[in-house]
Amino acid sequence: MATIFSKIINGEIPSHKIAENEEFFAFLDINPVSPGHTLVVPKMEIDYIFDIEDDVLGRMMVFAKQVAAAQRTAISCKRIGMTVIGLEVPHAHIHLIPMNKESDIYFGKEKGTPTQEELAEIAIKIRKEFK
Ligand code: 5GP
Repeated sequence: MATIFSKIINGEIPSHKIAENEEFFAFLDINPVSPGHTLVVPKMEIDYIFDIEDDVLGRMMVFAKQVAAAQRTAISCKRIGMTVIGLEVPHAHIHLIPMNKESDIYFGKEKGTPTQEELAEIAIKIRKEFK
């Protein structure tokens, strides 16, 4: 059965897309730990990130770097933090999280519940900066 992220990539489930290329897809996390929290996923369905072939993983990191550059320009923050957890959705993904302090990237706190309009507004800002 397709993962929820494959359904997002295929457009069966709506998302606030940031960027995509042939291999990867980036979209806003629906429950961000900080505003602009973005997920980068491979289009190929694979659960564990370190099972990804070296060359694909390398390109995934470069794609994540491009997304992070767009986030950093669009959102007021010191830098973009990166983490991989993957306990909830069995489809490899990198979390890219705008941060000003360490606690901005802490997953133990209550996550945000932005409206669709708020997510759309942030997505537009980040998309504009994606090169
Ligand atoms: P993890 O698997 O790394 O623990 O977390 C999965 C992440 O995916 C969570 O941060 C969660 O908010 C996000 N997520 C789960 N379902 C959806 C969804 O349907 N749409 C979006 N945009 N994000 C989701």
